[in-house]
Amino acid sequence: MSNFRRKVERSLMRKAVKVDIPGTFITRENVYTCQKCGGLTVTVDIDEGVTPFMIGCRASGNETDCNGDAYSAFYPKGPRPPHIPKPSWEWYKPSDKEVNSFPESWRDHYRKGGLHLRKISLESSQVA
Ligand SMILES: [Zn+2]
Repeated sequence: MSNFRRKVERSLMRKAVKVDIPGTFITRENVYTCQKCGGLTVTVDIDEGVTPFMIGCRASGNETDCNGDAYSAFYPKGPRPPHIPKPSWEWYKPSDKEVNSFPESWRDHYRKGGLHLRKISLESSQVA
């Protein structure tokens, strides 16, 4: 077996092990910048799945205050810079029951592993 192949197999094994151990999933934070008001919507992934690159602006903490489109910063690496606030919104995997309550046109997204965005409530917050 070539060195390259061995390296590839090792990295795959590492990945598989990581996924199998509960509690090792690292929450990922993301920032969406509004094209209209310039506000920041800061999010955190609490489940694994797919998130969109564009969302409706929620910078004020409210879904309906601004109708601008906010664009993803694609999960910046490293610690959150001081000017970025703590996440107020979280991406989570909706239950089957929830998915069935969504409009038909949305359901496909969730069935393919898409995450849903909700406001972080004080009780459910897992963000330090
Ligand atoms: Zn906005």
